[in-house]
Amino acid sequence: MEFAVQATLKSSIILVGAGLHSGRPARLCVMPAPADFGIEFRRVDITDKDNRIPARFDMVNDTQLCTRLSNNFGVEVATVEHLMAALAGCGVHNAIIEIDGPEVPIMDGSSERFVKEILSVGVVELGAPVKVLRILKAVSVSDGDAFAELSPSDDFEIDFEIAFEDIAIGEQHHSLNMKNGSFVRELSNCRTFCMFSDVEYMKSIGLARGGSLANAIVIDDGNVLNPEGYRREDECVRHKMLDALGDLALAGVPVIGRYHGVRAGHRMTNLLLHAVFAAPDSFEIVEVNEQQSAQLPGVGLSYSDLELAV
Ligand SMILES: [Zn+2]
Repeated sequence: MEFAVQATLKSSIILVGAGLHSGRPARLCVMPAPADFGIEFRRVDITDKDNRIPARFDMVNDTQLCTRLSNNFGVEVATVEHLMAALAGCGVHNAIIEIDGPEVPIMDGSSERFVKEILSVGVVELGAPVKVLRILKAVSVSDGDAFAELSPSDDFEIDFEIAFEDIAIGEQHHSLNMKNGSFVRELSNCRTFCMFSDVEYMKSIGLARGGSLANAIVIDDGNVLNPEGYRREDECVRHKMLDALGDLALAGVPVIGRYHGVRAGHRMTNLLLHAVFAAPDSFEIVEVNEQQSAQLPGVGLSYSDLELAV
């Protein structure tokens, strides 16, 4: 097979919607970008200072319930993870994302709408080889009972465990090799979730202001409050895997390695990337080889993968 080459969108995508935490509407325009550009947000509503925010792990300034990026001038964009997961899962390595508000629209709480738009416009190859972050030595971080690790593997695998007291979630464990469009089929439509008992508190500290049953699964005392129920029995752990993919995409290049998360969240995955980059012997950034090419999430993906998503 041929080696994977970098890709961008064939044409721009425009989406409008409210943010989950701010409740504020924003217009999002995801545009093509050249090879080796990476992913960059631009706050087009801010014109009196540098409004560019590279989508990189070292620009993360808050991880409470979502991943928020900030540039050196304090220009921020929140809840980037579901869009980042969609771009990474569809093999889009370069894009400029213009947004006229502080938060990426939440849509239905999953990555499905972003994926649909990306697959509708299609991707175009840019001729330059993909660079990958290959894990050479296991690196882990932990905090209480939360744990996250990246370890060497020939694949890109995400393995996640969660445990909630509420029996509507309980203990869930899922593992997935990210190649051949499996993100799109297996994870992309899995929604974010929260406890009803936490909603009032979240609102009191300025979070979840745009939250509703239309953009999140809400759990209350053993029940799912959404009338349609779960999209999958283990939708919650699959959403955590989606988040992990989006947060790992902030490495700037695709990862070749195994991610293992236990009760982890945005903060742990971000701490993990900081730990990896602080340990130069734990990784290498190399041009993709033939075997790694076959493991990348976007390779082999087609629109029919979305139709196969249950
Ligand atoms: Zn999420």
